[in-house]
Amino acid sequence: MLIIGPPGSGKGTQAERISGCLGVVAISTGDIFRDNVRRRTPLGVEAGKYMDNGDFVPDSVTNSMVRDRLQQQDAREGFLLDGYPRTAGQVDELDGILAGEGQELALVLQLTADDEELVRRLLGRAKDSDRSDDNEKVIQHRLDLYHGQTEAIVARYAERGILAKVDGTGDIDEVTDRVMGAIETAMAASVN
Ligand code: AMP
Repeated sequence: MLIIGPPGSGKGTQAERISGCLGVVAISTGDIFRDNVRRRTPLGVEAGKYMDNGDFVPDSVTNSMVRDRLQQQDAREGFLLDGYPRTAGQVDELDGILAGEGQELALVLQLTADDEELVRRLLGRAKDSDRSDDNEKVIQHRLDLYHGQTEAIVARYAERGILAKVDGTGDIDEVTDRVMGAIETAMAASVN
């Protein structure tokens, strides 16, 4: 499964909850990059150059990291990817990885919220976060990239009939209920 949404839509929080409910591993590319930045690994040094400005880390770097991660044992029986893919090239890469493993995407969840709400949430989060990319200028750039590139790839999953859009506004528990409802509906439809 994939969870896709604009910055501030709560995809990390919901991914953790889905992971807890379904017992599948949640893999966040943003978390992996941040962990590498903190540990000052070569990957972190490279990724950090882009993250601070809210740019996408280049596909060549991101794709090989995801390919390695999905080969680990805990992802063999399924996984939930949070924050990947975000570009057309990443969709192609993921298709290739899955085809190579004989796996198929079951469901793509898209969390939605309007930009005004997202900016409000992210600026709120900035007060007690150590994220270098939660400031007004960078937030706007991250939103622009989402609208410019990531929404287009969501449309590709819609064409394949595996997209479920979930309203990401309101109380966190309410959003989780909607998310779990969307997963149940999709799973029931795939069994029938
Ligand atoms: P996130 O925690 O998902 O908001 O990601 C934080 C930052 O990590 C993004 O703004 C990008 O710089 C980088 N990043 C995370 N996932 C990707 C991806 N799939 N492709 C490129 N860059 C990414």
